[in-house]
Amino acid sequence: MKKLWEKLRGRKIGRTGRLVLMILALYALFVLAVTLVVDGRHVRFYMTQPQEITAAYGEEFTDPGCYAVTAGRLFGEGGRRLRLSVRGEVDTSKLGSYEIEYSAHWLFQEYSTRRTVTVVDKTPPEITLEYTEGYAPSWFTGYEEEGFTALDNCDGDLTAKVEKKVLGDRIEYTVTDSSGNTASVERRPNYTVTAPVISLSGGTELQIYAGPSFADPGYSAADSLGNDLTGYVQVSGEVCPYLAGEYELNYCITNKLGETVSAVRKVTVLPAPLPETVEPDEKTIYLTFDDGPGPYTDDLLDLLQAYNVKATFFVTCLNEKYQDMVGRAADEGHSIGVHTASHNYRAIYAGEDAFFQDFNAVEEMIKEQTGAYTSLCRFPGGSSNTVSSFNPGIMTRLAKAVTDMGYQYFDWNVSSGDAGETTDTDQVAANIINGCTGRKASVVLQHDIKDYSVAAVERVINWGLSNGYTFRPLDLTSPGAHHGIAN
Ligand code: ZN
Repeated sequence: MKKLWEKLRGRKIGRTGRLVLMILALYALFVLAVTLVVDGRHVRFYMTQPQEITAAYGEEFTDPGCYAVTAGRLFGEGGRRLRLSVRGEVDTSKLGSYEIEYSAHWLFQEYSTRRTVTVVDKTPPEITLEYTEGYAPSWFTGYEEEGFTALDNCDGDLTAKVEKKVLGDRIEYTVTDSSGNTASVERRPNYTVTAPVISLSGGTELQIYAGPSFADPGYSAADSLGNDLTGYVQVSGEVCPYLAGEYELNYCITNKLGETVSAVRKVTVLPAPLPETVEPDEKTIYLTFDDGPGPYTDDLLDLLQAYNVKATFFVTCLNEKYQDMVGRAADEGHSIGVHTASHNYRAIYAGEDAFFQDFNAVEEMIKEQTGAYTSLCRFPGGSSNTVSSFNPGIMTRLAKAVTDMGYQYFDWNVSSGDAGETTDTDQVAANIINGCTGRKASVVLQHDIKDYSVAAVERVINWGLSNGYTFRPLDLTSPGAHHGIAN
């Protein structure tokens, strides 16, 4: 324009020429004014799809694009599409909103418009159920999950977020991803299993004789699919094996669904039959020695052997090194009875279980030494003791228990006084002789762990034999010389 003006200035274009130029310039101004002001011409954009669109997460995005033309009030749209430049990118690997800007240049001006593209996740997660070959549920557990996984295109592993619902005979698995897409699948475990029956070995009614212990004959349980459920059986109830009576044992399985099957066993503990006591016809002395064997038992046995007198030993386990004396005594025709292993009042009278545990230890020792258990016993302190009063009623219960178990328990009706009143052999002998005098059946209490007491025995034997007494060992039919039970 400037060049043209200079060219024109350099020339003599004359008056007409200047007039033409002025007219042309005015016309151009007029056209521009009409175009911009009256026509209002500008750039108009057309979106090929709505201005706000979404794109799928993870998928390729293609911009649907737009085009632009000029447009005005008076002369309408221009037919030619303007060249557009496009700015902005959409990353479909990240959720979010992106903007694309389209712009066009027209008549020294830039026009632009924008499109919003939101990348969204519309794909629900995928739940895969696992199946175990040959799987058979058990009655105890019910259906046990075989496994499942949930994977999402956007969130990855969602297995931990799967919710399981048991709806009758089907299980529904549901999971929702972070964009709110929900997936749901269903499983129908197809099986039939009926409740197990608890089988009781030895029957539902059991009769036993009272004894030191009770061993359950056993039980088993299996469901209809063959699953062994024996290990789940819970046994409640107790049998007191040394007390005659009726007891109930309950066998029960409660499965994980809260269903229960049970069986009951009635155990009748019968008192062991005891023979009737036989009062001896002749004047009889039963020499009994407690708390041994000990260091004087051997000499005592020699003496008894020399006179061919049979006695009774109520033994403990306190002197292990003399235990073979128990075997010797039995071999030589003396009777052996249980006196308890520890002779510890606090321990043995603490309860029936403690008592019989201790009691059985002596029985085992006796069996080891003599080849047989015994049926004779004597309570430490006698059945009338009150040292056990810290456990009220224990002697009453133990006296019944040992009797139920087939033991005859013996007290005494002649005391030698060797347990504390005297340590004098003459006095011991005198006490025994006085006690036996005029008595048909004398059960004499002595202790073979006391040398001064053992030393009195020969005198007692001589006195007895020369006064028409018979010396006998105790047996199940012998008089028990029972004291009145005081506890
Ligand atoms: Zn004793």
